[in-house]
Amino acid sequence: MTDATEADLTGGTPRARPEGDVEKIGDRKLKPATMMMGHGYDPMLSEGALKPPIFLTSTFVFPNAAAGKRHFEGVTGKRPGGAEGLVYSRFNGPNQEILEDRLAIWEEAEDALAFSSGMSAIATLFLSMVKPGDTIVHSGPLYAATETLISRILGRFGVQWLDFPAGATREEIDAVLTKAATGNVALIYLESPANPTNALVDVEAVAASRDAIFTGENKPPIAIDNTFLGPLWAQPLKQGADIVVYSLTKYAGGHSDLVAGGVLGTKAHINTIRLMRNTIGTICDPNTAWMLLRSLETLELRMSRAGENAAKVCEFLASHPKVEKVGYLGFLERGEDKRQADIYRRHCTGAGSTFSLYLKGGEKEAFAFLDALKIAKLAVSLGGTETLASHPAGMTHLSVPEARKQALAITDNLVRISIGVEDADDLIADFEHALKAV
Ligand SMILES: *Cc1c(COP(=O)(O)O)cnc(C)c1O
Repeated sequence: MTDATEADLTGGTPRARPEGDVEKIGDRKLKPATMMMGHGYDPMLSEGALKPPIFLTSTFVFPNAAAGKRHFEGVTGKRPGGAEGLVYSRFNGPNQEILEDRLAIWEEAEDALAFSSGMSAIATLFLSMVKPGDTIVHSGPLYAATETLISRILGRFGVQWLDFPAGATREEIDAVLTKAATGNVALIYLESPANPTNALVDVEAVAASRDAIFTGENKPPIAIDNTFLGPLWAQPLKQGADIVVYSLTKYAGGHSDLVAGGVLGTKAHINTIRLMRNTIGTICDPNTAWMLLRSLETLELRMSRAGENAAKVCEFLASHPKVEKVGYLGFLERGEDKRQADIYRRHCTGAGSTFSLYLKGGEKEAFAFLDALKIAKLAVSLGGTETLASHPAGMTHLSVPEARKQALAITDNLVRISIGVEDADDLIADFEHALKAV
């Protein structure tokens, strides 16, 4: 094999479950937190090593010529069932396969793919689904790089887009989808909660609208970026999404020490996306996959603790005289917006640990607060073990036009906070001290 391009046709390399892989004890189906320690890995295939070695290799040896031919028959679809083994590291490797098996478990997805970043996951998803003239319908706002990818990059290749606000009602979603349906809608792409508005998308309403307006072959898949709440606090496949996208850089990686992405969904969709990933090589490297396997072992512990911490910190902040408002999903039930509270009840099992803090005042007050923090670090990103704080108007959303900033409530007094796993009372002391400096 001098060139692996034949394998670009692969629908994937589905593999047999390792010997002794436990998914059930009697009738009891094991929980994801339990399965993160061993699922998808057989120590006896690696000298008994409890943890998987990092497989640094670019290609895989076939046991004999006939086996190699059989792999390629599977890979090229000449024989159904896919390849029975690994072929070439642009397609997959042992560390990435174990990671993919474990990622899928959290949302009970049929299959999953690992990527080199959240954005390479999103870009590979889009490239695998759209062609010139197609329309992407999306909720707004989206992660800035995703908006750039749709409008400025795919737009150059003749892809069109239409959007509806993240908090849109069924009627508003119907109106946009009906308009889009005059052309070919390739994909409905959502992000919930939206950043930094925290508006939740009604995925059930989007799915119902899609099913009412499109039929058969024309029915576009619904993909959703679940980075902010997944997989612990939101599982949108259960509300009718077909594909879930992650920046694994955030909560899944969880230690602010790697960049990676993931896509989960039905076998058919994942096979389409895998074909594109095989062609362009947006898979993550084995070392990153190994780091993510370690991260997933503590995912539930970390996210639970961060969520509990955020609830305590938000209670403190909400009652502070220098605070105008706290945009925290956990407060939806007490708020005016009955519709958002209803979506929250139907879609979420927790409020997350990333929220918006509106101080009384403007940029001066926000900067004084940020500069006085001692535990919380001044950095963008979220979902790590450490607490981070940033100023969207002056940092992540600096280039957003003024009118759009106002519409999205990205005001100068807004501070974005991602709570980590530190001691909650230490964090409250840090915020209390910093508010004194305002
Ligand atoms: C960070 C992020 C991304 C991009 O992920 P990278 O891993 O940085 O490429 C996409 N969507 C959301 C919601 C994010 O927070």
